[in-house]
Amino acid sequence: MTSADHSAALSPSRIGTFRNCPLQFRFQVIDKLPAKESPVRRRGTLVHSVLENLFDLPAKERRFESADQKIYEIWEDTIDENPELYAELFKGDKSEENQFLESCRELLANYFLMENPDRLNPAHREKYLRVTNKDHLRLHGYIDRVDISPTGLVRIVDYKTGKAPAERYIGPYQFQIRFYALIWYLTQGDLPARLQLLFLKDRQVYTYTPTIADIDATNAEILAVWEQISSQARSGDFPPRRSPLCNWCDYRAHCPLLGANPPEISEEGVQKLLSTQVN
Ligand code: SF4
Repeated sequence: MTSADHSAALSPSRIGTFRNCPLQFRFQVIDKLPAKESPVRRRGTLVHSVLENLFDLPAKERRFESADQKIYEIWEDTIDENPELYAELFKGDKSEENQFLESCRELLANYFLMENPDRLNPAHREKYLRVTNKDHLRLHGYIDRVDISPTGLVRIVDYKTGKAPAERYIGPYQFQIRFYALIWYLTQGDLPARLQLLFLKDRQVYTYTPTIADIDATNAEILAVWEQISSQARSGDFPPRRSPLCNWCDYRAHCPLLGANPPEISEEGVQKLLSTQVN
């Protein structure tokens, strides 16, 4: 993964967190409370790494067997670098680790039913883009893959390790890829021809053709969210929002809706967040 500039900037995932629960956003982005390790998160990281590495191989070697081998290689390296991770994720239970690795294999097997990677020649993988938009907001994000056709048409591809949502819940996913289209457009000067999400769990592909109107609408949407974020940062009041996602929240131990006393908000974190908008 390319090294990123970590000064304050908005990303699709930060905006998604704020929309889900402003207090969770505060804990994560401003207070930087540690997040728990989880097999789901690790699975996403591992599968993305395998798909990134796959394209280092010559085209004819981009087979499931190679990806399968990569899962184990990358996982062994991960555990070697961070030996506590094994205990933290699986409590020392080898069968849980096996189940975890098997779930990664299934996702990658699905990938090979969705695309022929031997026919692809990605221009970029894990492409980090950072830009300041017309509203002086710093934006950034990692794009999983960018394909550029011989005629110069750009396709932005994002892998999802979960299932595709029902159509009425596609909004946040569509926003994420429109955000990528925007930062590509602002940094590279051309509008991607196609945006694509690959949902590996159920082998669904979601495709979107962006327009210049989408670029303007996405800028406006980002500004509207920023106005809420910055106003809450100035008041220090980030309200909790209960939802089914609370069950997976990393910050349950700090949440007032669950009877906890939240820590004092970090003033330094607030100031850093407010620097997202450049004067
Ligand atoms: S438990 Fe729910 S309400 Fe509380 S911070 Fe987490 S997501 Fe927000």
